[in-house]
Amino acid sequence: MPDILDDAERLCAQNGVRLTPLRRRVLELVAGSKAPVKAYDLLSRIDQSNANAKPPTVYRALDFLMEAGLVHRVEALNAFIACPQAGHGHAAMLYVCEDCANVTEVQGARPGQDNKPDGFAVKRSVIEHYGKCIDCR
Ligand SMILES: [Zn+2]
Ligand SMILES: [Zn+2]
Repeated sequence: MPDILDDAERLCAQNGVRLTPLRRRVLELVAGSKAPVKAYDLLSRIDQSNANAKPPTVYRALDFLMEAGLVHRVEALNAFIACPQAGHGHAAMLYVCEDCANVTEVQGARPGQDNKPDGFAVKRSVIEHYGKCIDCR
């Protein structure tokens, strides 16, 4: 997990953006969880007495982390995972176990780039596959 935070610091420095303490804390919580993390779980784990950690700020931190490619949203679960390969250029390709909600990310091609409509600028792509993981089969 320290690797993910180190990578994040480096990536943000490269891109000229700041990994604020709150953004770092949110990433740390997402990366430290085995299962995908819901936004309200994050909210309950972040010290709410900190005026900087009100829900809108936490959601903005998540948006930032997603745009930076550090975190992906698992759309079907409405939950978040830390990207094991921060800053990769590919679309996220997620395998979601319907039994235990375990999510594995693999390196994908670049779906959405090849057949996209003329002039469409893809901001983010998430491909989700559903089934059973090896432990649940
Ligand atoms: Zn990823
Ligand atoms: Zn499973």
